[in-house]
Amino acid sequence: MAGKYFFVDTTRCTACRGCQIACKNWNKQRASKTTQYGSYQNPSDLDGNTFRLVRFMEHPSKQNSMVWYFFTEACRHCLKPACQKKADQIKKGAIVVNDFGAVLFTKETKELEKAFKAIKQACPWSIPTWNKKDRQIVKCHMCHDRVAAGLPTSCSKACPTGALNFGEEAAIKKLANERLAAAKKKFGGKGEILDLDDVRVLYLIIDEQSKYRPVAI
Ligand code: SF4
Ligand code: SF4
Ligand code: SF4
Repeated sequence: MAGKYFFVDTTRCTACRGCQIACKNWNKQRASKTTQYGSYQNPSDLDGNTFRLVRFMEHPSKQNSMVWYFFTEACRHCLKPACQKKADQIKKGAIVVNDFGAVLFTKETKELEKAFKAIKQACPWSIPTWNKKDRQIVKCHMCHDRVAAGLPTSCSKACPTGALNFGEEAAIKKLANERLAAAKKKFGGKGEILDLDDVRVLYLIIDEQSKYRPVAI
């Protein structure tokens, strides 16, 4: 199926959080209460008011100092969504996929409160969250309202470095391949695109996956 894709070039991300704020702005989400817990990453995880989160991972470098890895995280809009498969066992139609590939949690997920934990566990990245105010399961909806009106997603529009990109499948895959080749040249042959055949959000990384986000969340 053709449709819309994201491409995230982690080598260009400066962790400015423009994408995270733009998402909150478009979705009219209040700020999440945060605390100092030893990381610049805030909030500490996705939540009912945060559909996109810039992860900060800190690692020792060979030069005896620290190095940051930044990773802007949201739903991957899977081609075969495990969340939908799980939800369908209880209420078919609560999670749907639209004509350009956005995986959408409808208001009918209000009836899935008891199944929320199982749906979250079904997602390989533990993305779905529970919104206490609206009492439904929520996550990134690929700005389906903007995209249907011919606009780019709010988060990708805000990215100032070319790290977060959005568009048609062919154009995004072409960009991803060009950036992969450039990364391999720049970083001594390192670089891979994650989950190319399974998701609509393609990530370019140049080191082990576990360095960009906690493996088990
Ligand atoms: S990333 Fe998770 S929440 Fe998003 S479509 Fe895939 S399984 Fe569902
Ligand atoms: S596509 Fe829209 S809803 Fe999804 S993370 Fe970006 S701004 Fe938020
Ligand atoms: S707006 Fe772009 S550079 Fe800034 S945190 Fe998001 S992906 Fe990274």
